[in-house]
Amino acid sequence: MVVVAQKPLHPLDEYLRTDRLPHIWCPGCGLGMILQAFLWSVKELYERGKIDPDKVVFVTGIGCTGRASGFVNFDSAHTPHGRAIAFATGVKLANPKLIPVVFSGDGDIAGIGGNHLLHAARRNFDVLVIMANNMTYALTGGQLAPTTPFTVYSTTTPKGNPDQPLDATKMVYALKPNYVARLSITHPTLIRESIKKALLKRGFRWIEVLSTCSEIFGRHINFRDPYELYERLKKVVKFRRPQSIDDIKYDWDNEITCGTFIDKDDPGWMETYMKMYGLEDKLGGL
Ligand code: SF4
Repeated sequence: MVVVAQKPLHPLDEYLRTDRLPHIWCPGCGLGMILQAFLWSVKELYERGKIDPDKVVFVTGIGCTGRASGFVNFDSAHTPHGRAIAFATGVKLANPKLIPVVFSGDGDIAGIGGNHLLHAARRNFDVLVIMANNMTYALTGGQLAPTTPFTVYSTTTPKGNPDQPLDATKMVYALKPNYVARLSITHPTLIRESIKKALLKRGFRWIEVLSTCSEIFGRHINFRDPYELYERLKKVVKFRRPQSIDDIKYDWDNEITCGTFIDKDDPGWMETYMKMYGLEDKLGGL
């Protein structure tokens, strides 16, 4: 870690490039809560001797969420739109001892980068993906995202979204990687617990976090007040243990199912591959 020269003002300062602050996120945006949960998780695991922050490589794509790579004090990369998972795959292949973490938005991960998501999950590739889902392409002005709810206005669908949205978590669940969870900024402690668990696992780990974009998505659904949007999100979040894939709902008007849906410990892709080539000694721990 880079040593902070002056006395930190906040316990997380050592994990932030404080010279890059203030951040660019709007008042009322949920992204800071997700980043904070991640930073607290790393800090706690480090203090318990479970993780070396110098091995964390923080990879983002493009979008409001993607700006986080400039704020954190890890080795980080701000990669082309949709390519964060591909970049993180390269990081792990180049140095299996590193811990790549992808932190990006729904447009980047499930839209433009959807193909990378599909195949990394299918291969149970060793990367943690945290997808902040604010249901729109926020940074670029509120275009339709694959996650935008049915009939909701966007700047590219002025009469409402005619498409059924993609439930990215349901898709990942179907591919059966080691860890699949969907959480919400309305329950921040659970985000932290989930990230701590996922950071210590091998294979593909997926955490979707429902977030509030008060500036764009909120305006599009006539919730201009960030607190009202937060309350609206809270209403639709339902924690359940699904019995089957059909129990996972992504319906903005009724229920977005949250919880931990898969938590297992199969060998990740790296382990399988390294064993095939007799390279187990090159595999990294945490
Ligand atoms: S535009 Fe939306 S997602 Fe982007 S920083 Fe503002 S509130 Fe957050």
